[in-house]
Amino acid sequence: MELAELVGLRPFPAAGLLLGLTRRCPLRCRHCSTGSDLTVREEPNAAQLLRFVGSFTAENRPDVVMLTGGEPLLLPTLAGELSFLARRAGSRTAVLSGMFFARSQRIPPAILRAIAQVDHFSASLDVYHEREVARADVFRALHRIRESGVSVSFHLTGTGADDPYLADITRAIDKEFGGRVPSLVNEVRPFGRAAAWARPARTGPDPSAAAPCSMAAWPVVAFDGTVLACCNQDTVDRRPAPAHLDLGHIGSDDWETVRRRALESPVLRMIRTVGPTHLAAR
Ligand code: SF4
Repeated sequence: MELAELVGLRPFPAAGLLLGLTRRCPLRCRHCSTGSDLTVREEPNAAQLLRFVGSFTAENRPDVVMLTGGEPLLLPTLAGELSFLARRAGSRTAVLSGMFFARSQRIPPAILRAIAQVDHFSASLDVYHEREVARADVFRALHRIRESGVSVSFHLTGTGADDPYLADITRAIDKEFGGRVPSLVNEVRPFGRAAAWARPARTGPDPSAAAPCSMAAWPVVAFDGTVLACCNQDTVDRRPAPAHLDLGHIGSDDWETVRRRALESPVLRMIRTVGPTHLAAR
């Protein structure tokens, strides 16, 4: 599964599911939106995660499941099992990693086995990640993963279109991989460790204008097992969750229930159509 196909599914409600496997991470990137490191132990109950993904059926499942964190490959066996269950129902799977394992010359076998079970692998790379893991190590590991037959991409983060780092890294990726590895580029957001220093995202939309919110498309499983309608990190972390964004819990709900709530809620439909600012103003 290539990056373009994954991104193409992003606007479609419930076409995808984002699973946060753990908030833990061996790295401490300065811009980390989840505030991850090895001291934070929040992660959903593994048995509940397996049961929830096991509730997918051939007729009712997301097209794609994205395994994220923190660092999802701290739990390679669980990542592999979740991918197996999702693919058995016909979903495809992707994993987003901060590449901690690239610091060793060889990719640990358990991690390579987990990666071999997904349909797409994305490596996070930016100026902050490069202070934790060298670019050359990330490139070497990505070559190894490509050789195993898995489609790969980069998740780059920068400060905007004029960020010289983004110009440099995209050139370097093109040169290293002969233009065959795509990148998705995001801006640093003021969440997690970046809350204290990153500039806020652009000014809010005009309340009188429709500004559909694409973040309310794919359900997100948060680190406490709550399923939310929005992937905004502030929303994912806030408790109690705003009632209109709360889709249930993996301990008590199955995919069919979560999907139905996501698709049928009138408030969510309006948020996806005209946006939250316009809706609140009315
Ligand atoms: S690798 Fe990702 S999860 Fe880990 S500290 Fe960096 S940004 Fe956070």
